Amino acid sequence: MNATLNADLHCHSVVSDGTLTPEQLAVRAKSNGVQLWALTDHDEISGQARAAATAQAIGLDYLTGVEISTTFLHQTVHIVGLGFDLDNVPLWQGLQQTRGGRAVRAQQMADDLARAGIPGTFEGALKYAGNHDLISRTHFARHLVETGVCKDTYEVFRKYLTEGKPGYVEHRWATLKEAVSWIRNAGGVAVVAHPARYKFTANEEFALFTEFKGHGGQAVEVVTGSHSAAECITYADTAREFGLAASRGSDFHSPDESRTDMGALPNLPPQLTPVWELLQDRIMRATAH
Ligand code: AMP
Ligand code: MN
Ligand code: MN
Ligand code: MN
Repeated sequence: MNATLNADLHCHSVVSDGTLTPEQLAVRAKSNGVQLWALTDHDEISGQARAAATAQAIGLDYLTGVEISTTFLHQTVHIVGLGFDLDNVPLWQGLQQTRGGRAVRAQQMADDLARAGIPGTFEGALKYAGNHDLISRTHFARHLVETGVCKDTYEVFRKYLTEGKPGYVEHRWATLKEAVSWIRNAGGVAVVAHPARYKFTANEEFALFTEFKGHGGQAVEVVTGSHSAAECITYADTAREFGLAASRGSDFHSPDESRTDMGALPNLPPQLTPVWELLQDRIMRATAH
């Protein structure tokens, strides 16, 4: 398997905050030319068996996936896990614990929005949540678009739900160490997701990668839907500097919202170890091609 493989190792289904089912995503990935796929729902792996079964049936190689919410230096950092065992009990328990605070947080977000003059958003957001355990800011964003408060979800995040804006509630997720350990102990590889999206200073970012690696983290997302070409080059350098493998994923959520479709990504920059090289034994090979 080479560096130009069309791997898409980051996307979301209705099990978290995507709008397509795992089955629909598998079909979309295949028809977009994806050769190796992972569904990476936020803090939840209950869509994995469906994703893997459909992928294998339609001729698409598959890696198990998840995107775990962590808190590092008061910011939310997402850690993607790839190629872990689905029946690992500590991983299930860790994810259940991570999901735990979401309902209370959502109620606090709704209370804050109500104080800002926008009532009824908890019930509104819940209607969009395919999985009530996983109510997220994205579901609030869809409700605020549907009710005409904003024109699209990007505007919602600019005006609401982000630090300093109405509807933002600080939340303590898993620690970096916990997330990396859950993934590693289940036989998987941990990946720092979309590193350019965090607002760390250079020193803080250095601390993030140093600690991540110290806990057993092995890869970084270099090519993602939310990185510019320059950011891909920056994080290719980071991967080489820290001896991390490189991952590639669209972070696709919805045909109506996502700017990058599944599989529609640049190749990895040269002289990197693709994360799928570390995961050869973990790939669930398709039964039909
Ligand atoms: P949550 O896990 O509830 O904090 O929601 C996080 C999700 O909201 C992310 O996975 C994205 O899907 C979405 N999101 C967060 N920030 C933004 C943003 N600035 N613009 C668009 N979507 C965002
Ligand atoms: Mn999301
Ligand atoms: Mn993310
Ligand atoms: Mn994501």
